[in-house]
Amino acid sequence: MLAFSLVSTVEPRPPSKKVLEVRAAIAPPSDVKKSRRIFVNRNLRMDEIELVGFDMDYTLAIYDQPRLERLSIEATLRKLVEQRGYDRAILGLEYDPAFATRGLVVDRRCGNILKMDRYGHVGRTFHGRRALSREERRELYQTVRIRASQARFACIDTLFALPEATMYATLVDFLDRRGKLNYNQLWQDIRESIDEAHRDETLKRIITADLGAYVERDPDLALTLHKLRSAGKRLFLLTNSLWSYTNAVLSFLLDGVLEAYASWRSFFDVIVVGSRKPDFFSGKEPFLEIDDQGAPHGKAGSLQRGRLYQGGNIGDFERLAGSSGDRVLYIGDHIFGDMLRSKKSTTWRTAMVIQELEHEIGLHERLAPRVARLEAVERRLPILESEVTQQQTQLRSLQKLRDTPEVEAARRTARELLEDLRDQLRETTDEQAKLEAELQAAFNPYWGAIFREGAENSRFGEQVEDYACVYTSRVSNFLAYSPTQYFRSPRDHMPHELG
Ligand SMILES: [Mg+2]
Repeated sequence: MLAFSLVSTVEPRPPSKKVLEVRAAIAPPSDVKKSRRIFVNRNLRMDEIELVGFDMDYTLAIYDQPRLERLSIEATLRKLVEQRGYDRAILGLEYDPAFATRGLVVDRRCGNILKMDRYGHVGRTFHGRRALSREERRELYQTVRIRASQARFACIDTLFALPEATMYATLVDFLDRRGKLNYNQLWQDIRESIDEAHRDETLKRIITADLGAYVERDPDLALTLHKLRSAGKRLFLLTNSLWSYTNAVLSFLLDGVLEAYASWRSFFDVIVVGSRKPDFFSGKEPFLEIDDQGAPHGKAGSLQRGRLYQGGNIGDFERLAGSSGDRVLYIGDHIFGDMLRSKKSTTWRTAMVIQELEHEIGLHERLAPRVARLEAVERRLPILESEVTQQQTQLRSLQKLRDTPEVEAARRTARELLEDLRDQLRETTDEQAKLEAELQAAFNPYWGAIFREGAENSRFGEQVEDYACVYTSRVSNFLAYSPTQYFRSPRDHMPHELG
């Protein structure tokens, strides 16, 4: 009677004919491993794309994240000490580069860092490096409507911004112990110091002096750009970085890689630096023509191959480049600056580079048996709970009957059965907690997987779904696909059509 088997509940249903058809239609080229695939949120027909644009930092140029983080943290801390009078002791603290992930939100009022799900519900939260209890979270965040766009909050949207969250958590911990701390001021000091380290070229000087140490040379990048060009597409660069840095990084990545291209500049039909995204997508800033030294030479009346431009705005760009709207695909890594703005201001198609995908997909594959087990356990739990309730009801009705030897025997059996079910429920609940903790720790011990929060998509996952037509781990993943590929979304069918 107690022969429930966990195994019996995990048998997957065979996929329907419709599901198989959809799978076949969206299948990537057969030799592409999952971590290098392009994933589709909205259908994208590459044969309709005339112009393909690229952001540079974290898009064409993939950085060695831990090394760059260490560098940003060192430069920022030095500024905090030397220019803002912070205690020198902060230089000797331990800053764990594994602490922060993309998509986190900083609560500047309370000194907390939190992760939200797609509905704005606040999940995991840390004050400094201490995880807040469920009760603490409820008290702070469940009585008011939380919107990450409120001034009280700051979003960690780019890989560039991860060190800010790491420093904030470490310094909140350290400075809290020394008395009352103005959390908002601390955040502002960190932000301004890191901005200054970027602005005064402290970081760029060190990176450009040793590009090989900080930037990953992707052997397929030049071939990917060449393949798109060969299919008749025009390419453009649209980066917020200024000329000298852009030139240094792209020379390192693309110069001399393919014989047909004398320099990195020949891959692109239009080159725009210092573009001030997201304002580029809504402003009226004119395009300035600049020389090889980055010096401006007045407003540009056209966008010509071989020339260099700075600033600009989307209206002028579309007019001068002669392509607009959904004939343009823009590839970037910043959900707000590259994806959301371009989606809201124009009908440009978007591809988002999320370099964390390779790591997360690798983990998913390695941990697949554990994930399947967790899913089975999660399906089993509500069944067990309802069986316990049923058994309790049955025992109660037996207790109302007149005492006879048969009724006594039935009660004994029912009690044993109830005990047994409760044991199973306890064991299954424990197993669920253990599996969940194990899986979380494998992704990120503090925050879990970047695309999930609890049983939901994370706020970050939701934004990727909303604003990126396709997403992938690196630009060179396009190399395995045809330049006329029809990227089809699995969601061009509604759930009821797939059943
Ligand atoms: Mg970028």
